Amino acid sequence: MTTLLIATRNAHKVGEIQAILGNDFRCLTLKDFPDAPPVIEDAETFVGNALKKADSLANWLADNSKLKTQNLKLDFVLADDSGLEVDALHGAPGVHSARFAALNKAENSADADNNAKLMRLLKDVSPENRTARFRCVIALVPVPEHRIENASPVCFADEFPTQIFDGACEGMIQLSASGAKGFGYDPLFVPNGFTQSFAELGEDVKNQISHRAKALAKLKIFFNHQDTKTQS
Ligand code: IMP
Repeated sequence: MTTLLIATRNAHKVGEIQAILGNDFRCLTLKDFPDAPPVIEDAETFVGNALKKADSLANWLADNSKLKTQNLKLDFVLADDSGLEVDALHGAPGVHSARFAALNKAENSADADNNAKLMRLLKDVSPENRTARFRCVIALVPVPEHRIENASPVCFADEFPTQIFDGACEGMIQLSASGAKGFGYDPLFVPNGFTQSFAELGEDVKNQISHRAKALAKLKIFFNHQDTKTQS
C-alpha cells in the first residue's frame, strides 16, 4: 500500500482528500508531524505553491528521525494548492483565496471575512456575470532516500521527479450564502448543473464533482498506470 503525507494543516481539505482517495492509500497528515516547518505560500501560481509545499516537506522528511526510529516508510508527499477564480474580479482571489481579507501578509483570514469581502465586491454584479471556478493543483513528490542538499529553496524543479495533477469546477457565486457544510467559499459557490451551493450539497456530491475530486482522479490514474507497469 502507498503511504502519503498530505501536506496541509486545513482539516477540511484532509478530510476531502482522504474520502476521495479511499482505502487504497494510507494517509498521514501534518498532525502526525507537528514539528514540520511551515512553508510560506508566496508563489504567484497554484502550481508554484503546490510544488513549494511538496518539495520542501519531502526534503525535510528525508532527514526525519521519526521516520527512522519508527521504521515508518513514507512514499510520497501530496500537496494541494487551491482557490477560487471569479471572472468579474479578473480571476481574484485566485492564489490569495485563503488570505483574501487579510490585513497582514503572513496570516490567513477567516472564511467568514473572505466571504463577506467577496459579497461586497460583487454587490453590483448581475447574476449572469457572477461566473467563477474552483481550481486545484496537486503536487506529488517521492520522499527521497537522502536529503537533496543542492535543492534551492526558491526552485526545486530540477531536483525532484514531481507529478502535477489539476482540476477545475465551474460554477457561479450566488447572491447570498447558504448551507453549513464544507469550508471556505462553499456557501457562496453553486456548481454548474446544480441549484444549491457546495455547502448545501455536502461531501457526497462535492467529492464527485469538485476541482479536488478531478485532480485526485488523475492522480489515481497515475498510480494505476504505475501498478500496471510493475506487474508487466
Ligand atoms: P491553500 O491552503 O493556500 O490552498 O488555500 C486554499 C483556499 O482556497 C482555502 O482557504 C479556501 O478559502 C479556498 N478553497 C480551496 N478549495 C476550496 C473548496 O473546496 N471549497 C471552498 N473553498 C476552497
